[in-house]
Amino acid sequence: MASAKFIKVVLLGDQGVGKTSLRSQLLYHYFSSSYKATIGADFLMYKMKTSEDEFVDLQIWDTAGQERFNAVSRAFYRGADIGIFVYDISSSDSFYNLAKWIDKFTANTSDSKPLIMIVGNKLDNETIRQISYRQAKEFSRTQLEEGMIENSDLDVVETSAKNYRDVEKLFMRCGELGAIKM
Ligand code: GDP
Ligand code: MG
Repeated sequence: MASAKFIKVVLLGDQGVGKTSLRSQLLYHYFSSSYKATIGADFLMYKMKTSEDEFVDLQIWDTAGQERFNAVSRAFYRGADIGIFVYDISSSDSFYNLAKWIDKFTANTSDSKPLIMIVGNKLDNETIRQISYRQAKEFSRTQLEEGMIENSDLDVVETSAKNYRDVEKLFMRCGELGAIKM
């Protein structure tokens, strides 16, 4: 049997946007409405099969409660294949901070030429939405044009970790993109 492709994925973005929830929904179908900030960083494995029948192991890293730009350690970024940048569609601050997260990420991953995905979470908060899908698309295009990211495939997905909406789709797409990149 062919061995699985191994892809390092890191979740980044402001505290409270739903990074930890997205990952725990994917792996355990677990959503907690209480907010828990844990300490440090950790990773969990997600095994999947692409539409091309390739086996992929996603190693998904989460910063836990240390989401200040300079608190994320080098080891977190090192060798990342994909950066998932999460904002909350009902928080424009979390969206405008993405540029800083991307700068920090690209500065620390020049060796691995990672792909970037932009994720607007809390889609169930549609009634109090502050950032449109179009704005997020526009932002991803600008990042590409500014050459912030080389060889990348910026993409935008909206999710709800609360309702399990498009959570699997997000990580499946990561696996597909990652498998092509390698
Ligand atoms: P993190 O700091 O980015 O890891 O965010 P968490 O996953 O800890 O979530 C922060 C808060 O937002 C928690 O109270 C979650 O229950 C809530 N939350 C996460 N995802 C969603 C979502 O899709 N919709 C709603 N309404 N709340 C969410
Ligand atoms: Mg968290």
